[in-house]
Amino acid sequence: MRNPKVVILGAGYGGLMTVTRLQKMVSVNEADITLVNKHDYHYETTWLHEASAGTLHHDRCRYPIKDVIDTNKVNFVQDSVKLIKTDEKKVILENGELNYDYLVVALGAHPETFGIQGLKEYAFTISNINSARQIREHIEYQFATYNTEEEKDDTRLTIVVGGAGFTGIEFLGELANRVPELCREYDIDPKKVRIICVEAAPTALPGFDPELVEYAVNQLQRKGVEFRIGTAIKECTEQGIIVGKDDQTEEIKAGTVIWAAGVRGNSVIEESGFEAMRGRVKVEKDLRAPGHDDVFIIGDCSLIINEEINRPYPPTAQIAMQQGEVCARNLAALIRGKKELEPFKPDIKGTVASLGEDDAVGIALGKKMVGTKASFMKKMIDNRALYMVGGAGLVLKKGKFKFF
Ligand code: FAD
Repeated sequence: MRNPKVVILGAGYGGLMTVTRLQKMVSVNEADITLVNKHDYHYETTWLHEASAGTLHHDRCRYPIKDVIDTNKVNFVQDSVKLIKTDEKKVILENGELNYDYLVVALGAHPETFGIQGLKEYAFTISNINSARQIREHIEYQFATYNTEEEKDDTRLTIVVGGAGFTGIEFLGELANRVPELCREYDIDPKKVRIICVEAAPTALPGFDPELVEYAVNQLQRKGVEFRIGTAIKECTEQGIIVGKDDQTEEIKAGTVIWAAGVRGNSVIEESGFEAMRGRVKVEKDLRAPGHDDVFIIGDCSLIINEEINRPYPPTAQIAMQQGEVCARNLAALIRGKKELEPFKPDIKGTVASLGEDDAVGIALGKKMVGTKASFMKKMIDNRALYMVGGAGLVLKKGKFKFF
């Protein structure tokens, strides 16, 4: 009898966690495992705000996938997933196709622009290494160009961040630290630079502890960030954005607009015909897609309801990694012919948002924390994620050790 074919799509937090756990659980005689990813490297999505602002080099945020997979057991295919044909148990790639007996979809998120005109064309998003590198280069280009122009255009130095959720706030923290460096490097008066955060909700970090929100906003304002809370971006243009509040609209001219206000599941989900809400499939307790006993969907492509409040959990790396562990155990069970699978239950250990290198806010291990203590915790969380996938060796290679 031939080995079952297990195909894992995506080598982000969910996919890599699944594959690195599964490779330890099953032997080469039990399953043929294939991992597919667009790039030959994994990137820490949760560090991309740093690469985008230019406070951390993008190479620090990525490592070769081959460093953490057992190539005797896992066949790595570098390719782009285009479509999943569940009725044929087939994955269509840009350069070929793969058959599967069991499939894991862990393709992460795409930006959600809520149909706001111009965002796709003119705004940047913090999505992957390429987009982070582009944002960093674009901001530097604006600073480098400013002094070469005879008629100086100060709006070139205005940076708008759409969204004051976790990604927006973390990016603002890095940017507020990076701007003084850029001003020194390009001989620019810091007073000419504006960083404006526009958030449609009535508060920054919606749903987070109000005391911690106040701390975060105060710290960022102290570093020069202007907040437009309760204000919606109506349109993005080549010149900046148009915002609306209380029936009034205003144009804010800006050389850089970064959209950090929402994600949806990877478009492959909807294009492949899975029933989804904003590209996220409400998976069964065992992480399989409803009606598809051979397809697991994890990470940002999946939707899990928090039964305590009857609302979906926000998509996080924390959940993606925990799902990866359960998914690996469930795959091993199926490979060995078991019918009973383990249900997934998130174990939320806390949430910490960084505000630059040496500051953060969060709740971890049941305690509220701010400042260097929270920042230390954030780095421990980042290091733990590396440890979970690649052990102590990966932490030593890629970990964050500059604590204060
Ligand atoms: P990802 O880790 O994004 O991985 C998806 C993988 O699929 C990538 O390797 C990608 O290259 C690959 N891929 C995508 N499309 C294709 C395709 N068509 N073909 C082949 N390969 C493909 N979460 C937290 O828990 N804590 C935080 O502090 C935190 N901070 C964040 C900060 C930022 C700036 C951002 C953007 C997100 C943050 N998140 C945080 C959210 C977290 O990063 C995501 O929830 C997490 O990455 C989801 O994991 P995943 O495995 O679903 O997807």
